[in-house]
Amino acid sequence: PISISDPIEEHRICVCVRKRPLNRQELLKKECDVVTVPSKCVLMVHEPKQKVDLTKYLETQTFRFDFSFDETSSNEMVYRFTARPLVETIFEGGKATCFAYGQTGSGKTHTMGGDFSGRAQNASKGIYAFASRDVFVLLNQPRYRNQNLDVYVTFFEIYNGKVFDLLNKKAKLRVLEDGKQQVQVVGLQERPVGCAEDVIRMITVGSACRTSGQTFANASSSRSHACFQIILRRRGQMIGKFSLVDLAGNERGADTSSADRQTRMEGAEINKSLLALKECIRALGQNKSHTPFRESKLTQVLRDSFIGANSRTCMIAMISPGMSSCEYTLNTLRYADRVK
Ligand code: ADP
Ligand code: MG
Repeated sequence: PISISDPIEEHRICVCVRKRPLNRQELLKKECDVVTVPSKCVLMVHEPKQKVDLTKYLETQTFRFDFSFDETSSNEMVYRFTARPLVETIFEGGKATCFAYGQTGSGKTHTMGGDFSGRAQNASKGIYAFASRDVFVLLNQPRYRNQNLDVYVTFFEIYNGKVFDLLNKKAKLRVLEDGKQQVQVVGLQERPVGCAEDVIRMITVGSACRTSGQTFANASSSRSHACFQIILRRRGQMIGKFSLVDLAGNERGADTSSADRQTRMEGAEINKSLLALKECIRALGQNKSHTPFRESKLTQVLRDSFIGANSRTCMIAMISPGMSSCEYTLNTLRYADRVK
C-alpha cells in the first residue's frame, strides 16, 4: 500500500527517460557508461566525437524530460511517476496510454512486463501488474465501489501490421473500421478479471505466448508491439481503457536496407508505426483536430485513445548506458524529445 500522495500531472502528455544499469556483458567488456542522470529532469549524453576512440568523448548533449530515472530506480518508482497518475483517468471516463520506447535490450519488457531472473519473468513486478493492482484498489474505494464496474483485460501483439491475440494462442485478428470511425479488433479476447492475481495470470500467459517459438537469436518480440489493456465497463458499456504498450525495438526501424526482404518489410512497418505514433501523440498534446492514426496498424488500433477530451498519455524512453549503444540512445532521446 502506498500512503504518500502521488504526483498528479495536469498535462496530457508526459515524457520520461529510464536508464538501465550496465549489464554483466557490458561490464566484462569494460564498456563505459556514457549517460548521466544528475538530477531529476536533466539528462546528459556524452557523444563520442569519434566513435572508435573512447577517450575522445567530450561533447555533451543535454535533454530535458518530465522525469528521468537513473540505473538505481525500481520499476515501482518508475511506475509511480508515469502510469500511476493515469489510473484515475479511466475511472473518469477517459482513455490512458503508456508506451515503453527504446532499443532492443534497453529494458522495455522489464519495465512493463516485470522483472526477469534468468529467463523467467516475474509478472507481478512490472507496470502492467502495478497498474492493474491500483485499478482494483480504486475500484474498492467508496466512491467507485457501488458503481457496478467490471474489469477486463486484453493482450495482443502487432507484428508486421497484423494483430495477434496473446490470450488466445496468437490467433490472427482482423481490424475493422466502421462508418463512424470506430475501430474494432474482431474477436479479440477480453478476459474478465476479479482481482490483481487474475491479471498477473493473464500477463504471464500472454507474455509466454509472445515469446513462444522464438529463439534468442531470432527474437521476433523485438519486431513486434505488445499491447496490454485494462478495460472498465458498466453493464457492458465501456467507461475507460488503459493501454500499456511495449513497443518494437526502435533500431528495427532501420532494417529497411537489409538484404532480407522480410526483414526489410518489417523494418519499414516498424518505422512507419513509430513515426505515426509520434505524430498522434503530438496531435493529442497540441489538441489538433487531425490525428494521423490511419498511417499504421498500431495507431489505428489505439485510435480512440488519441482523441477525446479526457485522453492522456505517457511515454517512457528506455536507454542503455553503454558506449556501444550511444547512437541508438541519441536516436531514442531525440524521438522522445519530439513527442513532448
Ligand atoms: P527490451 O524489452 O527493451 O528488449 P528487456 O526488458 O528484455 O529489453 O531487457 C534486457 C535485459 O536487461 C533483461 O535481461 C532485463 O532483465 C535487463 N534489464 C533491463 N532493464 C533493467 C533494469 N532497470 N535493471 C536491471 N536489469 C534490467
Ligand atoms: Mg522486450
